[in-house]
Amino acid sequence: MSEKKLKRKTSFTGSTEFTNIKLEEPMRYAAGKLGVKEALKHGFKEMGIVRSMRALLEMNQEDGFDCPSCAWPNPENPSTVAEYCENGAKALADEATTNKIARQFFTKYSVEELSQFTDYQLNKFGRLTEPLVLRPESIHYEPISWQEAYGLISEELRSLNDPNEAIFYTSGRSSNEAAYLYGMFVRAFGTNNMPDCSNMCHESSGVALSETLGIGKGSTKLEDLYAAEVVLVVGQNPGTNHPRMLSALEKCKQNGGKVISINPLEEAGLVNFKNPQNLKGLVGSGEDMADIHLAVKINQDIPLVKLILKRLAELDARDKNVFDHDFIAQYVNGYDELLADLVQYDEQDLLERCGVPEEKINETVALLAAKEDIVVCWAMGLTQHENGVQNIREFVNLLLLKGAMGKPNAGTCPVRGHSNVQGDRSVGIMHYVDEKLNQRIEKHLGFVPPAEEGVDTVGAIKAMYEGRGKVFICLGGNFLMAANDTEYTAQALQNCSLTVQISTKLNRTHLVTGKTALILPTYGRSEKDMKDGKLRYFTMEDSMGRVRQSRGLLKPASDHIKSEPELIGELAHVFFDGKHSVNWKAMAEDYNLIRQSIDKVAKGFDNTTERSKGVGYYLPNNVRNLDFSMLPGGKAQLTLNDLPEHNLERDEFLLMTIRSHDQFNTTIYGLDDRYRGVYNERRVLFMNSNDMKSHGFKKMDVVDISSHYDNKKRTAYKFLVIPYSIPKGNLAAYFPETNVLVPYNRYAHRSKTPISKSVKVTVVKSE
Ligand code: SF4
Repeated sequence: MSEKKLKRKTSFTGSTEFTNIKLEEPMRYAAGKLGVKEALKHGFKEMGIVRSMRALLEMNQEDGFDCPSCAWPNPENPSTVAEYCENGAKALADEATTNKIARQFFTKYSVEELSQFTDYQLNKFGRLTEPLVLRPESIHYEPISWQEAYGLISEELRSLNDPNEAIFYTSGRSSNEAAYLYGMFVRAFGTNNMPDCSNMCHESSGVALSETLGIGKGSTKLEDLYAAEVVLVVGQNPGTNHPRMLSALEKCKQNGGKVISINPLEEAGLVNFKNPQNLKGLVGSGEDMADIHLAVKINQDIPLVKLILKRLAELDARDKNVFDHDFIAQYVNGYDELLADLVQYDEQDLLERCGVPEEKINETVALLAAKEDIVVCWAMGLTQHENGVQNIREFVNLLLLKGAMGKPNAGTCPVRGHSNVQGDRSVGIMHYVDEKLNQRIEKHLGFVPPAEEGVDTVGAIKAMYEGRGKVFICLGGNFLMAANDTEYTAQALQNCSLTVQISTKLNRTHLVTGKTALILPTYGRSEKDMKDGKLRYFTMEDSMGRVRQSRGLLKPASDHIKSEPELIGELAHVFFDGKHSVNWKAMAEDYNLIRQSIDKVAKGFDNTTERSKGVGYYLPNNVRNLDFSMLPGGKAQLTLNDLPEHNLERDEFLLMTIRSHDQFNTTIYGLDDRYRGVYNERRVLFMNSNDMKSHGFKKMDVVDISSHYDNKKRTAYKFLVIPYSIPKGNLAAYFPETNVLVPYNRYAHRSKTPISKSVKVTVVKSE
């Protein structure tokens, strides 16, 4: 059967059947005994008691392994008993499960049959244990040897007319060593086509912080949160996505600090935290978190902050002691322009736009006026909007006016969602050209890297859809389900001649593939990576810029899997036929060689093998030294930001895609979202009860959600309407199920981060 004829009928959604939902009142606290029970339940079920307890005792410990989930930093003195949270334990159980799948499984199930399962079910099948190939004329994966796999990839890459017809994606789980070797191989191959998962999450933070403060990373360290006077938590749900952050906020509260939560949803983790590591949390009342919750409407953070700044400016005009004028004079540009700009906004209009009650605004203004040590933490609730970059710049304005920058207990804190997403960028995973980096590569690696900008995630999807991207290689991740515009992205992947997934577990991107597809199974973070009897370790960079070591302890899922650096080095060796200025094979075997190269080529790394021991070391951060010499006028920049305009039609809502509590990115650990009172179901739509009344919806009505951008209707079918405390006109539903609604060509200006947190949709009853 010729390649042309076979069009695999694989589903990009899987089953949309309901799973017998149970609803309860949303919870008013996070963690507690229930959190411990859930953490152990997942571990014992997936790994068994002994294996699970052995691994949990080593997670996030100095000589242990780094949690494979979010990028929250480890405290200098980690708890020796349990330095992890419930969702960290779930992430471990998920990767270290004893469930495994091999060739027999793929003989039994075709990719078409597998694609009918839900993402949750696919993930539950277990660990991948040997390299597999899906040949053009087939719908079943079959085993392939590593060497044949490297040969097949090399042949496809060599057959391309232009290196830019190949695209190399990186997910934030990859270690510094794997990401560095991958990035250097891609450049040696001849392209900068290196989209990565941060394009879809904190790219807006990178752009906003680079232009206002001179570095695309946060400036705070963990200890700064402990002693801050005020911590603003904006567009973030730490109780589910960065749970150990609650311990830091608990310390802040116990030190007299205040917490302000800014989010359309009042999330359980920012109401009360029952820290299971102390009696008060285990059997007592826990620690109340947010002192003030501002239930801002979706994407109305700028009107909210402008209103606060206007009020602070009025107070400062009177007493000249609200803004830090010495700091502004010495380190900040744009003060007069900003103050002049603020005057033009009408307070009533700002109040209506943000939807926050006046008394809450006054409470917030009073608190911020009186305090100096202020930290702003944020996540996707600020970044995934067309004005994502401006959202972040507006909060930087607040910090600069208060002089809350470059000193202890104050500053910026974009909280990274994936354990090494920041490290991947720091060691060179980027689609844009950094000339200084290219010069160092030429000097130390002996080849001239490409000088043409490559594609980011949005660009990659478009290139594959239009047939300009022919080979797509993914270092980790579940690209199809993480990306937006699922149907368009599925078509893009199927246009490729070859797609390659370097993965630990089965997901939908293994089923919606190019004509030929390869699965290359790799290690989990918790698994031993032995070479010639020696245990090898990796390094990661946490959300606050500290580089530390991670070494696994568990027996790998199979003898036929390889570590990421090993398979990348071996592939490069085969591709260049062993003739290249870089000794890829040697690096694949000895990670110290990779780290020595990182120290020479990647900015800020220094003696990493030594300094990453123990608590590790911080990469340089100019903001911490108040060095803004790379910026215009050598000063930090205040900026003018526009009010967002969504111009909703009468029957339109703004939808934000969210995670449930049993989920990490696109990995679904379970079907519950206990903090929001939803059990055993993911196809739910959270709606304001007054909106339900005015639109004729009842609780549990089955509805279809559609977006209508550029005269194209995109629909997510069959969701149950759930009344929820959310601002009028706003909706929330889980991703990846609703990513189909987000157009590939709608993203944040300049950062191109998808608009997943403010999608204009309509809702109708399902037929
Ligand atoms: S807070 Fe993040 S890094 Fe820490 S244990 Fe939990 S999921 Fe893992």
